[in-house]
Amino acid sequence: MKILLVEDDEVLCEILQTVLQKEGFIVQMTVDGGEGLYLAENFHPDAMILDVGLPTLDGISLLKIIREKGLTLPVLLLTEKGEVADRIHGLNAGADDFLPKPFDYGELVARVRAIIRRSKGVASSKLEMEDMEIDMAARTVRRGGQPIALTAKEFNLLEYLAIHVNRVVSRTELFEHLYNEEFESNSNVIDVYVKFLRNKIDVPYPVKLIQTVRGAGYVLRVGPNITCTDDEHIVV
Ligand code: CA
Repeated sequence: MKILLVEDDEVLCEILQTVLQKEGFIVQMTVDGGEGLYLAENFHPDAMILDVGLPTLDGISLLKIIREKGLTLPVLLLTEKGEVADRIHGLNAGADDFLPKPFDYGELVARVRAIIRRSKGVASSKLEMEDMEIDMAARTVRRGGQPIALTAKEFNLLEYLAIHVNRVVSRTELFEHLYNEEFESNSNVIDVYVKFLRNKIDVPYPVKLIQTVRGAGYVLRVGPNITCTDDEHIVV
């Protein structure tokens, strides 16, 4: 999942980037409201952490523009302590949540995870599909009750597919939400990571969850119509 962090306190910005990266997030940060707008439109963030007091374009004005443009990404506002008016204006302008400074970093991470889940229509931080359990807060996976060790990248890929269960996700979309770079159409990096992930979560088990949809991407499919007849689980 990708987080856009717009905060003009550079020290706080660096700390938050480190905290969020440790939790597995891809982070893009800027200290400038105008650049924040550009990144919100072009960086494909899954959520935005937005400081209210910013140079060139303040946080609430930025939020209003984002909503006027039809961008629905969840936004967590960072407000100054005691500024009730900011919170009210922020929520009215389309913020999903707010956190007054100073705040606990663990609480920030939990709130970011919560607004992302809600925006994707997922109620709990634990997902159960077939015999697989994914704990998005603890970043752990089990199949048949057995823990499976995944790298950060593999977990992020699984989490993205699982949150969008039964929806075909293109390679481009996966790349945009899992990497900080522009997607190059000849890149096979997503295919490589899907293979790594399958080797751990699908190959040892009779029911294959990740399917390749030729020409479209990948889908984590659960439900009554799971059909996997070949090695690559290709659906055409
Ligand atoms: Ca500020």
